Amino acid sequence: MQYYSTNGNVPFASLEKAVVKGLAEDKGLYMPERIKPLSKDFFDNIQDMSLQEIAYHVADCFFGEDVDAESLRRIVYDTLAFDIPLKEVEENIFSLELFHGPTLAFKDVGARFMARLLQYFLRKEGKETVNVLVATSGDTGSAVANGFLGVEGIHVYVLYPKGKVSPIQECQFTTLGKNITAIEVDGVFDDCQALVKNAFMDEELNARMRLTSANSINVARFLPQSFYYFYAYAQLKKRGLADKVVCCVPSGNFGNICSALFGKRMGLPISRFIAANNVNDIFYNYLKTGKYEPKPSIQTIANAMDVGDPSNFARILDLYEKSHDAICKDISGATYSDQQIADTMRRCLAETGYQLDPHGACGYQALKDGLHEDEVGFFLETAHPAKFKQVVDDICGGDVAIPEPLQEFMKGTKQSMPMSKDFADFKMFLMGQ
Ligand SMILES: *Cc1c(COP(=O)(O)O)cnc(C)c1O
Repeated sequence: MQYYSTNGNVPFASLEKAVVKGLAEDKGLYMPERIKPLSKDFFDNIQDMSLQEIAYHVADCFFGEDVDAESLRRIVYDTLAFDIPLKEVEENIFSLELFHGPTLAFKDVGARFMARLLQYFLRKEGKETVNVLVATSGDTGSAVANGFLGVEGIHVYVLYPKGKVSPIQECQFTTLGKNITAIEVDGVFDDCQALVKNAFMDEELNARMRLTSANSINVARFLPQSFYYFYAYAQLKKRGLADKVVCCVPSGNFGNICSALFGKRMGLPISRFIAANNVNDIFYNYLKTGKYEPKPSIQTIANAMDVGDPSNFARILDLYEKSHDAICKDISGATYSDQQIADTMRRCLAETGYQLDPHGACGYQALKDGLHEDEVGFFLETAHPAKFKQVVDDICGGDVAIPEPLQEFMKGTKQSMPMSKDFADFKMFLMGQ
């Protein structure tokens, strides 16, 4: 399968090139040239299939031409070594719990898949070290660092905004050592993302070292996220609730919801989508006005969604051939302040006993506000509440138990490299590696 750039100024790339390069030379995002529909037979039987089986069928549509069947099956099964259960929160509202992986957030899926696919290509070539640069507002860093930890031939640099990720998130990528280097940037998330983007565009740097991205822009991270939407549908179908399904995605960079939209193109019968935002409401405003106006990001308690210029917006535009009408037909928006998020968390806990994290809370509330009577909705619980323990305990007055894998991380010693937000400094550091 060939991949084209959303900016359309470069030739098609192979899957391998798209994965290794991350971003196209014209700064566009790679898109698969075709989105293959899944068969009627697949959807007829989906309720009886396991997560891994479903994921393999979906993966085959995207990667089957480029990766042999046995390797692809192994990559998929290794990636999904944990369940993604759909839990009923209240009548007609379900939570797709994406926090049962090693770092307790949905990004485990894409990061683990990408690490394994990249390793598959590197083994085939036996070439020089690949350096993965990743900017994180919290969860990406931990998922990517853990997905790639100890993978031979790959070094990971995690860039994160100083003082703006929770201590629990921070320890998940600063205590690993080995092939993982944490870089603490004196700035906000958008500064980290700009440093990474500039590094990819810098000729001298690229001549010296092989760079790749593991942000949600990378097709190997982004496409596998479509797997679990099919599995959510399967679980609803099993309960006889799959007639009119609404899917609500707490969104920041819009990689997650974009993979859901790919799923719909492959035939997944979800009737509509809701993109739930915190006060970083750039997409919400786009839906209302048809104008896309990036803004500096605002810090919130749902900090993994603090994005002022969502990178995957370019993919959504491309998917809908820039039609605002078509986009509005499939997707609606919602936006919540920290106060509203906190109220939702308290109310949901009191009324249903379900403990939301601040990101999932946006998703849950958007369904509460937007679901029609004849619809069934599921929202993505994108991270375990314990990842934001301080915030969650302050709001809900409880003491969220920290799961075992998180406790392990917290025992480690923090090691990180301080960095300014000036690209020249970052470049000098990398050139010296
Ligand atoms: C990354 C993240 C999001 C946002 O996902 P996007 O793909 O960037 O839209 C939401 N919640 C959590 C917990 C995250 O880590």
